[in-house]
Amino acid sequence: MVARVIPVNTFDLVIFGGTGDLARRKILPGLFRRFLSGQMPADSRVIGAARSDLNSAGYRDMVRAAIDEFGGDEKAETKKLDAFLAQLEYVPVDAKGDGGWKELAALSRTDVVRAFYFSVAPSLFGDLAERLHTHGIAGPKSRIVVEKPFGRDLDSAKELNATLAQHFDESQIYRIDHYLGKETVQNLMAVRFGNILFEPLWNNHYVDHIQITVAETVSVGGRGAYYDRSGAMRDMVQNHLMQLLCLIAMEPPSKFGADEVRDEKLKVIRALQQVEPHHIVRGQYDAGKDTQSYREDAENPRSFTESFIAMRCEIANWRWSGVPFYLRTGKMLKARSSEITVVFKELGHSIFEDDDTSHQNTLSIRLQPNEGMDLQVTIKEPGPGGMRLVDVPLDMTFAEALGDTDIEVTDAYERLIMDVIRGNQTLFMRGDEVEAAWGWTDPIIQGWEARNDVPKIYEPGSSGPEDAMMLLHRENRKWRNIKA
Ligand code: NAP
Repeated sequence: MVARVIPVNTFDLVIFGGTGDLARRKILPGLFRRFLSGQMPADSRVIGAARSDLNSAGYRDMVRAAIDEFGGDEKAETKKLDAFLAQLEYVPVDAKGDGGWKELAALSRTDVVRAFYFSVAPSLFGDLAERLHTHGIAGPKSRIVVEKPFGRDLDSAKELNATLAQHFDESQIYRIDHYLGKETVQNLMAVRFGNILFEPLWNNHYVDHIQITVAETVSVGGRGAYYDRSGAMRDMVQNHLMQLLCLIAMEPPSKFGADEVRDEKLKVIRALQQVEPHHIVRGQYDAGKDTQSYREDAENPRSFTESFIAMRCEIANWRWSGVPFYLRTGKMLKARSSEITVVFKELGHSIFEDDDTSHQNTLSIRLQPNEGMDLQVTIKEPGPGGMRLVDVPLDMTFAEALGDTDIEVTDAYERLIMDVIRGNQTLFMRGDEVEAAWGWTDPIIQGWEARNDVPKIYEPGSSGPEDAMMLLHRENRKWRNIKA
């Protein structure tokens, strides 16, 4: 199947922090892929802006090297890369000073879509927003894209929202959570709301529990000092896992529109119960044969920050009352794997007397790797021996099922950037959503800080601390195996 490319209007995208890690690793290679698929009109421009003293030619060299390093297979297409680079400009700009703003204003066009990507530290968001206005570079239809972390608690998130609101309307602000740009995450909504099969079962009458796992094999090495100030709860749960939880649990919106979807997500966050301390397990990875411990990576021998967290949450509404949602995420685990699994209840009564095993249908949505879905159904075990039953997967890997689409190569970032250009906010977090998420997270963090909770040590390459297993075992359930 050939992927359909929806054209976009001519745009100017200014990337503040255009020389930084995120721009080189994700944003610019992503834009190049969109260019290759014909989604970057010839008169569109990408303008890098940072303090580094470069001219446009020097910037193009930097971007060429970045695409070479991070761009994947498409790096070979030299002629096309030249054509893409020709659409790039660079202006040295200091977010905190006056340098460069007049030059940036001189480049500004008012008759095209204008977007400003704040790929810089959040402490610079206010400076950028203010100077974009005072220099008349942003207009009422301009869009700004802001990166995570959006605050580190409710107060700082409110402050950040208030700062941006001084210069931009909510309809102009695109808060990125790249998890929402993943193909499978959007598929979650297609599966739920595009099929009649699942919706009648999607409630506490038929669902036993739901598991959300985001497991990583990487350590925090390299950004240990930064990570140590945040931890898994702030870095992963408050944003990514919470977004997945919202999409799996929300009521059907009246249409797939930005506010309709975000209103429903917000209701889920507001209905989340506070989590009991004994329903939270925090962990820190130990040293391995050739790897450092979390505390060594964090350069903090007394650190109490978690590199792993598992928790049992509940949503207090009619649909989900009594259904546990188990969330788990961590570093240095046995495989890189993200999935959401809906575990349905056992049958009330089995008519098959030869079969004494228990069976539960499960629907798993794999976010990475091998984006796809897997529905476990129960069938007769083939051969003689009576009516014994066995569970088998109805597995669908999207890349196999749909053939030669651009699923594998389309990264979440490029999809989301194109949504910004189209003016579609559906897959971006609204200000009140972010604040509600911090409003739920803050007391949990304050709780373990007040208790001086010490994270449990776990083996690198394992599934996390033993206590995380117990979280489910003591309720006669078990986590899905973390496997690549
Ligand atoms: P980075 O590598 O440190 O890059 C920061 C960028 O900001 C550089 O281009 C830097 O260029 C520019 N900058 C710094 N001070 C400036 C100033 N006063 N005026 C103008 N430009 C300035 O950081 P990053 O990793 O790209 O991260 C950028 C943002 O994305 C952060 O908010 C981060 O939390 C978020 N993020 C990053 C990743 C990732 O994978 N890297 C993932 C998720 C979110 P000059 O030094 O030349 O000015």
